Amino acid sequence: MSTIADNIALVGARIRAAAQASQRDVNSIHLLAVSKTKPAAALREAYAAGVRDFGENYLQEALGKQLELTDLPLCWHFIGPIQSNKTRPIAEHFDWVHSVDRLKIAQRLSEQRPEHLPPLNICIQVNVSGEASKSGCTPADLPALASAISALPRLQLRGLMAIPEPTEDRAVQDAAFAAVQALNSSLQQRLNLPLDTLSMGMSHDLEAAIAQGATWVRIGTALFGARDYGQP
Ligand SMILES: *Cc1c(COP(=O)(O)O)cnc(C)c1O
Repeated sequence: MSTIADNIALVGARIRAAAQASQRDVNSIHLLAVSKTKPAAALREAYAAGVRDFGENYLQEALGKQLELTDLPLCWHFIGPIQSNKTRPIAEHFDWVHSVDRLKIAQRLSEQRPEHLPPLNICIQVNVSGEASKSGCTPADLPALASAISALPRLQLRGLMAIPEPTEDRAVQDAAFAAVQALNSSLQQRLNLPLDTLSMGMSHDLEAAIAQGATWVRIGTALFGARDYGQP
């Protein structure tokens, strides 16, 4: 059986190969280890193999693991759907939120971000797959949302996040990620915002995402194995 360290090495090799194929600097691409449903011991193993950034989808589960791992200098990213009554603990216990798709959530995160912490890093989740996806703001709503979020004092708008409809068709993957990159650069230009982040690419499509400019790839299964939702 392969260990988490083996898997990290394999994913690292995929990232390097993809960076090379598109003549990108590999240091501009960061690995976010998506650890939802996995125990704290698995995160410890990943930490020992060099991983520092972890992505979690479920608040209670994430807070429990954070308590078990206070001895490690980890960077925590919230990547799941956000209910408005859960914004306070997210503002208090995370460094990044990748899944903001409406202004109300952003306003609450800004109001609730503790003064002693730096501004919370934010990505706006955008839906580039139409009706196939339930979450994410529409490309049409994106400029107004980005403009409003960029004015909030305790948030730092960093860029966009997307979860395109899953497909093994590389051309379809490329088209979806290219659309995200195009939206990000048009926002940068139209609103004059310093957006340096594209959070896109998962275990099955990280190569296409890197080819289209991903700066964070969010990898779960390829690092930690399949998830068992029966025993959260
Ligand atoms: C679960 C999840 C991932 C990781 O997906 P894998 O296919 O297991 O790599 C990435 N991003 C988000 C938002 C997720 O919910």
